[in-house]
Amino acid sequence: MEKTVQLYEGKAKKVFATENPELVIVSYKDDATALDGLKKGTIVGKGAINNRMSNYLMQILEKKGVKTHFVEELNDNETVVKKVSIVPLEVIIRNISAGSFAKRFGVEEGIVFAEPTIEFSYKNDDLHDPLMNSYHALALGIATKEEIDTIKSMAFTVNEVLKEYFIGLGVKLVDFKLEFGKTADGTIVLADEISPDTCRFWDAETNEKLDKDRFRRDMGGVEDAYKEMMHRVFGE
Ligand code: ADP
Ligand code: UDP
Repeated sequence: MEKTVQLYEGKAKKVFATENPELVIVSYKDDATALDGLKKGTIVGKGAINNRMSNYLMQILEKKGVKTHFVEELNDNETVVKKVSIVPLEVIIRNISAGSFAKRFGVEEGIVFAEPTIEFSYKNDDLHDPLMNSYHALALGIATKEEIDTIKSMAFTVNEVLKEYFIGLGVKLVDFKLEFGKTADGTIVLADEISPDTCRFWDAETNEKLDKDRFRRDMGGVEDAYKEMMHRVFGE
């Protein structure tokens, strides 16, 4: 499978067309951004770690019946995926309070919820990804009621599968962001990536942060945190 033209360059990945109109190649970069794009930097080795980890997790999810865009890993940084029309919602699941949740509701980080929460943000950089509920998404024609129900149910299944998987590696899955897309035949599949860029991972014993928060918050040890997650997942 060969790349043809570049279709898109985002903050963390590039997307290329292929000879097959139903497939695209995503190429993961080491570039990192945070704080609504204000903070920019490089995390050496991130592209390969996120690519390989995301592909591995999507294959675990497929085995549990979650449809994903994953097709084939080409090399450390590049993967063939089903081309989808992205539903412009960032779907955020939380198991433990952190980040914008803690800030918005004036609570500390680390409160373990009895039940996971779900929220949507409208994926729109110009509007700074505003929080949106499912009625807003419906009103704006972003997705149908059935699609929203499917997305919610898939997102909670992803959470159950990944929470259990990561706790086995001594990692708490605090919260994460998912994106879903529609294939040519209208099927909703899990798309984009699942990685330390898009999840909060805390060491189960020490609560040490093993994710992009180290970059967002200038904590240092960013590369080591990504490498540690790679080590837990692949033993490398
Ligand atoms: P951003 O657009 O937020 O800067 P990235 O740098 O990760 O994000 O760019 C990747 C882009 O590709 C995102 O806009 C994402 O929604 C989109 N994307 C992810 N998976 C697919 C897919 N299977 N088909 C088409 N587009 C996808
Ligand atoms: N997240 C993401 N992309 C975004 C916003 C959030 O991947 O544009 C992830 C983030 O890594 C975290 C979860 O979604 O795992 C919840 O993020 P939060 O709303 O707390 O926002 P933040 O504190 O990152 O601004």
